[in-house]
Amino acid sequence: MTEQFVENLETILGRERIFRNEMMKNHTTFRVGGPADILIQPKGEEVGKIIKLCRQEGVPYCVIGNGSNLLVGDKGVRGVVIELASREASIRITGNTIQAEAGAMLSKVANAAAEAGFTGMEFAAGIPGTVGGAIVMNAGAYGGEIKDVLVSVRVIDEYGDAKELPAEALGLSYRKSNIPENRTIVTEAVIRLATGERQEIFDKMNDFKEQRREKQPLEYPSAGSTFKRPEGHFAGKLIMDAGLRGYQVGGARVSDKHCGFVINCGDAAASDICRLMQDVTEEVERQFGITLEPEVKLLGEF
Ligand SMILES: Cc1cc2nc3c(=O)[nH]c(=O)nc-3n(C[C@H](O)[C@H](O)[C@H](O)COP(=O)(O)OP(=O)(O)OC[C@H]3O[C@@H](n4cnc5c(N)ncnc54)[C@H](O)[C@@H]3O)c2cc1C
Repeated sequence: MTEQFVENLETILGRERIFRNEMMKNHTTFRVGGPADILIQPKGEEVGKIIKLCRQEGVPYCVIGNGSNLLVGDKGVRGVVIELASREASIRITGNTIQAEAGAMLSKVANAAAEAGFTGMEFAAGIPGTVGGAIVMNAGAYGGEIKDVLVSVRVIDEYGDAKELPAEALGLSYRKSNIPENRTIVTEAVIRLATGERQEIFDKMNDFKEQRREKQPLEYPSAGSTFKRPEGHFAGKLIMDAGLRGYQVGGARVSDKHCGFVINCGDAAASDICRLMQDVTEEVERQFGITLEPEVKLLGEF
């Protein structure tokens, strides 16, 4: 990456939103990950310009939301990390439709919907991701998922051009979409909700949050459920039944509170987490013949 490239980035973004050799552990809920060559925090139209620049200069790029479903390698990420999570991301409500920028936190959208008396986003109250990350992952909980409420998205394609896509074009299914990883960037979403009773909506959200506090190890850094739910089973139960509760590699541990969570219980390296995930997968497969598939996304060099 040349100094000229960095100067061009500065022309688009200014200096304050460009960070060199930025430790990714400061941008992931796992608190794990080595240095990104460059991490930037673009807004709105800037995203397309950045993609065009990276493409023109042959610089690799990737996108993150709030880093709550990510395991970033200890050697970090080469090229440019585009971080979209932002407290300033807009959320606009018109009638029963919410238009939210991809960097808006899901919980903030859920709150805005509840305030306005709209039901359908309660499931998202305790998910610590952004709207963009939730769409790519088809995030869901307690019987709801983003697929149920999403109408359309605005994306920037691999050429840096903006496009509108209907939700049906995204192939949303269990924790999955067909959005090409790190090539198409979601920048905005349109969500449609139904009218509901404000107090009931808040009660439901508070109940979900309480259930999380009771059952999940929220006091430790993690990326949520480490593995997807295998058809007809629960990953956490399989791991517990395999005798792996509290199994530890370095600073990575199978949570004692919820075996479906791998937690960082003290300066874990990404390599500890990978080793632990591999050991867990092998043991569950050996005992039950079921192959666990990671839900967390791996990013960078390990
Ligand atoms: C304590 C805890 C509880 C959790 N509970 C749940 C739960 O109940 N249900 C659930 O589904 N998940 C849960 N998660 C996982 C996580 O919060 C979700 O997957 C969330 O949707 C990820 O959003 P994010 O913004 O953090 O995405 P990131 O982790 O930053 O990124 C995830 C993936 O999406 C891509 N991506 C992110 N933003 C964009 C964008 N704008 N355009 C294109 N690609 C993008 C990234 O490249 C990456 O591949 C939990 C996590 C934690 C830590």
